[in-house]
Amino acid sequence: MANERLVIIGSGPAGLTAALYAARANLEPLVISGNQLGGQVSITYEVENYPGFPQGTTGPELVELMQKQAERFGARMVIDEVTEVDFGHGSPFSIKTYAETYEAQAVIVCTGASPKRLGVPGEDLLIGKGVSFCATCDGFFFRGKDVVVVGGGDSALEEGLFLTRFAERVRVLHRRDSLRAGETLKRRAAANPKMDFVWDTVVEEILGNGKVEGVAVRNLKTQAAERWSTDGVFIYIGHYPNTDLFRGQLDMDERGYLVIGDRQMTSVDGVFAAGEVQDAVYRQVATSVGQGAAAGMMAERWLAERS
Ligand code: NAP
Repeated sequence: MANERLVIIGSGPAGLTAALYAARANLEPLVISGNQLGGQVSITYEVENYPGFPQGTTGPELVELMQKQAERFGARMVIDEVTEVDFGHGSPFSIKTYAETYEAQAVIVCTGASPKRLGVPGEDLLIGKGVSFCATCDGFFFRGKDVVVVGGGDSALEEGLFLTRFAERVRVLHRRDSLRAGETLKRRAAANPKMDFVWDTVVEEILGNGKVEGVAVRNLKTQAAERWSTDGVFIYIGHYPNTDLFRGQLDMDERGYLVIGDRQMTSVDGVFAAGEVQDAVYRQVATSVGQGAAAGMMAERWLAERS
């Protein structure tokens, strides 16, 4: 059993910023990385709206800089995943990972969110075989090919634009006839000759034997069903919070987001949260960083008041 003052679960921008603030308060926080070091932004190619980078930056670069900065002040990082927590008996809290069991006086939960699935036949079977949730990871494999992007938000357009670097044709399928995405991305997408839009249309099945070969789609206005050939299906239809670990232990809203009271504190005294695990609204690197800073400061104050 390892004893820690502060354990931060998750290593995205919220977790790394909480670690920076806690480290600067001499808490030597331990960050447990989760299955994706750096969280969602680590698989985002371009980040253009994080202040301080007028030319933009990449997700991996941003994560590397944040990690280095937190480590410089004494934060420690372990590459591991939490499998079970016990928050039910108050501080110290128990946190089990694949490799270790930790006892922590305070905890900051920064487990983020994961991409939603369509839930149609073929999707699960063909993940990694043409079905993807990460253009940055998989775009390279679609050089000269035809791909379909599902969704009408910022992610669909941003990642679809990234895919035009490789793919010959990128069709964005949206279930309505107007985009949710912001104006800048809409303009860039409209101006890109490789990208086109298919409105009022949903994917009913992803077709293929061992690899994606096509999609079965339906127009929701006309009910016309069609089958198209394509090599890849990239799905960007939103996210769900990674809170399964905390069910029955921390209060959540009806969608599973952690409910935060005053000062980033969850329903359990001494367990704080920051980032997308408790934020269904903003979901930006900049806002996660702000919430992470607040959680780091509040955890430090909470620990100081108890000692
Ligand atoms: P989002 O804004 O929730 O958009 C999800 C899209 O998927 C919507 O267009 C939605 O359609 C569609 N959709 C949802 N469920 C579907 C289903 N079952 N079948 C088909 N389509 C479905 O998600 P997001 O694009 O991931 O963005 C999330 C947040 O991150 C937003 O706040 C966004 O601004 C932010 N973000 C910002 C940037 C940036 O600033 N560069 C980049 C990425 C993300 P409807 O429109 O009909 O609901």
